[in-house]
Amino acid sequence: MLPELVRRWAGLWLALAVASAWGAKAPLAVDEIAPGVFVHRGEVAEMAADNGGDIANLSFVVGERCVAVIDTGSTAAIGQALLAAVRLKTGLPVCYVINTHMHFDHVFGNAAFEGGEARFVGNQRLPASLSARADGFVQRVTETLGDAAAGTRAVYPTVLVDRDSTLDLGGRRLKVEAWPTAHTDNDLTVYDEKTGTLWTGDLLFDAHLPVIDGSVVGWLKVLDQLEQRPVRHLVPGHGRADVAGTDALARERAYLADVAATVRKAIRGGQGLRAVIDAGEGKAMAGWQLSEAFHPRNLSAAYTELEWED
Ligand SMILES: [Zn+2]
Repeated sequence: MLPELVRRWAGLWLALAVASAWGAKAPLAVDEIAPGVFVHRGEVAEMAADNGGDIANLSFVVGERCVAVIDTGSTAAIGQALLAAVRLKTGLPVCYVINTHMHFDHVFGNAAFEGGEARFVGNQRLPASLSARADGFVQRVTETLGDAAAGTRAVYPTVLVDRDSTLDLGGRRLKVEAWPTAHTDNDLTVYDEKTGTLWTGDLLFDAHLPVIDGSVVGWLKVLDQLEQRPVRHLVPGHGRADVAGTDALARERAYLADVAATVRKAIRGGQGLRAVIDAGEGKAMAGWQLSEAFHPRNLSAAYTELEWED
């Protein structure tokens, strides 16, 4: 009885000590989905005060020499909580911070990793796309989260990937790969050779309705390639921590193909953008969360893209 109590107190003390050392942020909860591969599962939700912007899956991979972080969250505070989670698992330095694309919920924790030896890695098109939106993103995060967004600002990748590149963590290599426009124009995937783990960023959504901010046609083409990859672990940008062996890719393909087909049919039938959006308004898409918020936006994005196709 007593040793158990002592163990609990010791664990609590350690968590509090780490939290106070890293800006009073409790470490994010993580699952070790493969040896040395840790994933924090964000809530499937829109950013709101009650979730503090903790809405995307964030990961880190531990090598023999150093650690790579993959996506950093919506705020500097979430980045600090992610760093605290790293510190609970290893004392090795963070040498790479990889951003899978420029959306605020994946990049705005970067500031927590400045000042050490971390190099920031992204698709070569990320800096331009983030810089076009950074002010709007910061404003939105600050308005929604208030004090919880303190210190949040854009920190840009300087190691830019135009096709692919390999990052060495010591006894562990990560292959990063830049993709043509799909979810956004600056998507990047990460593959850990040692465990066969593929991080898709938001090229794959699980549970959360996919969000089109690039090209629905391009995204379907990228899915053709991702579906061919033999992987043992598959980490989506939102939803479950590991969806390998599930129908997640097929479900996303079915949704995106349905959006494209619906919009093409409407365009051929002479329907305007407003009518298409109105028809999708409030429509719950079976098996997907947040469809009321994102389905109309996807119809709008697809309409704008497909309006002038041959
Ligand atoms: Zn995204």
